[in-house]
Amino acid sequence: MERLKEIINRGVLPGDDICIIEEFMPGIGSFSKNGVVRAAWIGVTAADLNTRTVHVKPVHKFPQLPERNSVVIGVVVLVKDEYAVIKIFEDLKGNRYLNGFTGVLHISQASDTHVKDLYEVIRVGDVVKAKVLNNNPPYNITIREPKLGVVLAFCGNCGSVLRKAGSNMLKCPKCGRMEKRKLSLDYGRV
Ligand SMILES: [Zn+2]
Repeated sequence: MERLKEIINRGVLPGDDICIIEEFMPGIGSFSKNGVVRAAWIGVTAADLNTRTVHVKPVHKFPQLPERNSVVIGVVVLVKDEYAVIKIFEDLKGNRYLNGFTGVLHISQASDTHVKDLYEVIRVGDVVKAKVLNNNPPYNITIREPKLGVVLAFCGNCGSVLRKAGSNMLKCPKCGRMEKRKLSLDYGRV
């Protein structure tokens, strides 16, 4: 029983030993290697005495899919004339989407003002804060609100982090290049 107290309710990091395989078999969030059961992710250990397995309960919830109105952080992977594709791995509350999901930003959801070219709003590699508009895939997202939009962008010329130089303007501190975006009010702060 003393040994059980050492095994359970312990905060662990990926790779930390939990016990040996003769004590418990690896369950969700753990794995065994060379007879030692180790944590696969950050969490708190728990044991199931019936099945003699140990688990690591994740610290954050792991929702598999986003919900409408979730505010999420993603990276732009494709920009076309009418739409852009954003790969999303987490929301602002710290929930992670295990395999990530794809959000589609239509040009009509890109800005409050008329946009004639999506390349003046976002570019591949930008980090954006966006809101999910629906509950089922394909997920549509918006960046129209003032707090939504690009939160981090890199210079197309030299790759440096761009600095805010106006309401929707960025400037490279290294080479001086100016680039336009639809910026979040939180640009540089996420
Ligand atoms: Zn530059």
